[in-house]
Amino acid sequence: MTYIGIDLGTTNSVVATIKDGIPYVIPNSEGSRTTPSIVAYTKNQKILVGKLAKRQSVINPKNTFFSIKRFIGLRKNEIDTQLKKLPYDIIEDSNNNIKIKCPAFNTVFSPEEISAQIIRKLTDDAKLHLNEEVTKAVITIPAYFNASQRQATIDAGKIAGLEILRIINEPTAASLAYGLDKKNKTILVFDLGGGTFDVSILDVSDNVFEVLATTGDVNLGGDDFDKNLISWLIDIFNKKENLNILDYPKSLQRLTEAAEQAKIQLSTHEETEISLPFLITKPKDGGEPRHLNLTVTRKIFEKINNDLINRCKKPVEQALLDAKLDVSDLDDVVLVGGSTRIPAIKELIRSIIFEKLDESINPDESVWLNNSINPDEAVAIGAALQAGILAGDLKQMLLLDVTPLSLGVETIGEVMTKIINRNTTVPASRFKTFITSSHLQRSVEINVLQGEREFVKDNQLIGSFYLNDIPTQTEDSRAQIDITFDINENGILEVKAQEKKTKRHTAILIENTSTLDDTMIQSMVNDAEKYAEQDKEKRKLAELSTQATVYADDMEKEIELLKPTINRYDFLQIKKAIQQIRNDLPSNNFKTLKSSYDELIRLINLLKIKLKKKN
Ligand code: ADP
Ligand code: MG
Repeated sequence: MTYIGIDLGTTNSVVATIKDGIPYVIPNSEGSRTTPSIVAYTKNQKILVGKLAKRQSVINPKNTFFSIKRFIGLRKNEIDTQLKKLPYDIIEDSNNNIKIKCPAFNTVFSPEEISAQIIRKLTDDAKLHLNEEVTKAVITIPAYFNASQRQATIDAGKIAGLEILRIINEPTAASLAYGLDKKNKTILVFDLGGGTFDVSILDVSDNVFEVLATTGDVNLGGDDFDKNLISWLIDIFNKKENLNILDYPKSLQRLTEAAEQAKIQLSTHEETEISLPFLITKPKDGGEPRHLNLTVTRKIFEKINNDLINRCKKPVEQALLDAKLDVSDLDDVVLVGGSTRIPAIKELIRSIIFEKLDESINPDESVWLNNSINPDEAVAIGAALQAGILAGDLKQMLLLDVTPLSLGVETIGEVMTKIINRNTTVPASRFKTFITSSHLQRSVEINVLQGEREFVKDNQLIGSFYLNDIPTQTEDSRAQIDITFDINENGILEVKAQEKKTKRHTAILIENTSTLDDTMIQSMVNDAEKYAEQDKEKRKLAELSTQATVYADDMEKEIELLKPTINRYDFLQIKKAIQQIRNDLPSNNFKTLKSSYDELIRLINLLKIKLKKKN
């Protein structure tokens, strides 16, 4: 039995563990170290997670759910501004909770359930790789997540069948991965992912990570760089070929994938080739099939993304301002997120930092830009380290995080009275004594709030309960009520109200801020367990079907291209094998499909050997 650390990202997720005292990233069943945080439900009742879901996103937009992390633990009225751009439909239930419509399964899902599918895949892949049961996990969350978003993330883990040891802040995890917990330091974490940009400034001392400031841009990430490149490619292609590629969803899907690949290539190469033969096989103008062949240079890429690159500057300056620090106060800058691999982004960070520094300071990158770990893996490694610490495998003090927001209650005048201040180290327990406003008062309503603002209306109401049967008082006395806030290491809160004389009390656990209640979670856990085996079988078949379909499509194009150079018998045999796969697909029989897929692979390999000999 072992444990894992999960970076449940908006775009990509990563799973890591500790083996022989050393953290390492576990590759998924497709062999990649990162897994797209995408879940798709197909018409023939299959669930796809990760790369396979991503591959079919353009052609199945209503049932392909990405960026679900943007909605977890929030209510519909808290997210409206982002909804317009989504290809899938979001609705709300009678409690104002977000549900995601899934036409393929003719049902709705909560964000927790969809996130649980991602967590389940990571866990299953880890089990397979480690050849061990995996039962416990640490999951990371953005530093700015509120109590409800935190609880919802824990619920997602539970639905996936895991015991969640702890949830920790992403920048804290990344700093931990770099071993920055050992010294007293001020760290800036620059996290540019796929869809979001987070800047955090942390102060570390005595194993306590204090978040001094968090800023960012929830609508800025690597996907935007892809989009710019895609638009640029579309423009060129449409003009040259005199048709509109947007009318061909499958072609657009290939172009989308190629654009991201090209972007990644350009992080290590000055230029890259985009080659998409038969991008449009049957043009609506009745003409010849169209191909796309183009060279993209890093210079062009930087030019079309210049605005995005510059947008990264402001949040950094804002974070420093919020933390009341100057660049020279920073001991380390930690790069997190796949998009910090873009050379122009590194350059930007360098310029922000060194522009302002005394020239006598040696601009040695290793001191300032901490990038000894893959930036897209640092968070998962930190989560695994935290799990190792909690499991007692790593001899280190416990890491402590702090509350991201202040917590308190509503008092007279619609004012929020804080009971636990933000940045209090957790776990923590605080109480305050209040008096009733009139001697006749028999009951009080306790409204629990979260936020930094003075007035109730500007903060978030996260729970509400009553304390009844307060004894009546004489005219010149008032009942005294102690209100106690207990917050545990995950940032989850229990609020208790007690009348001093009678000791009568009531309490709520602010797990209820979660959009799901306990019975709902339990039934989802049961469902998930019940279907786990079935799901696994289904997934194996789904993976094989997609692989075989993609391979058959690709090979068909390839042999059409090669037709003049290969002999007719080989050509027909391969055509037949491709047709066999297509015949086998609807039967949903793993064995039959596997054997026809293997047969096509065998024939293609034979052909490759023949062609090599010929040349
Ligand atoms: P998130 O934390 O938002 O889930 P990641 O940190 O994994 O996501 O970042 C994903 C983004 O990083 C994607 O847009 C991906 O294309 C981009 N990315 C990954 N590797 C590279 C690379 N070598 N060069 C440029 N961008 C990259
Ligand atoms: Mg991330």
